Amino acid sequence: MPEDPFGPRRGSKKRRVAVRTPGGRTVYHYRHKIHGRARCARCGRPLTGTRTGPRSVMAKLAKSEKRPNRPYGGYLCSKCLRELMVTRAISLGWAKLSPAGGLA
Ligand SMILES: [Zn+2]
Repeated sequence: MPEDPFGPRRGSKKRRVAVRTPGGRTVYHYRHKIHGRARCARCGRPLTGTRTGPRSVMAKLAKSEKRPNRPYGGYLCSKCLRELMVTRAISLGWAKLSPAGGLA
């Protein structure tokens, strides 16, 4: 796909598809936008339990269908949240780490 990296569509996420017309020209047809998956703000892994799509689809979903219903749901992955909670509990003196690595 030859495209000027500094052209007007730089950074556009619209999908371009090359189509050969009956007259022999090659033209670009623009398809739906590409939607990226939500990612964890700490480790960058894709978040589970989240949905993505065009606004028309997302607007029809319930809030609980878009992200997990827990603190930092849809922002941190479960692993990072667990680590955050454990570190916070230890620093506040609410819990101690057991020799096995879990909470005592
Ligand atoms: Zn994470």
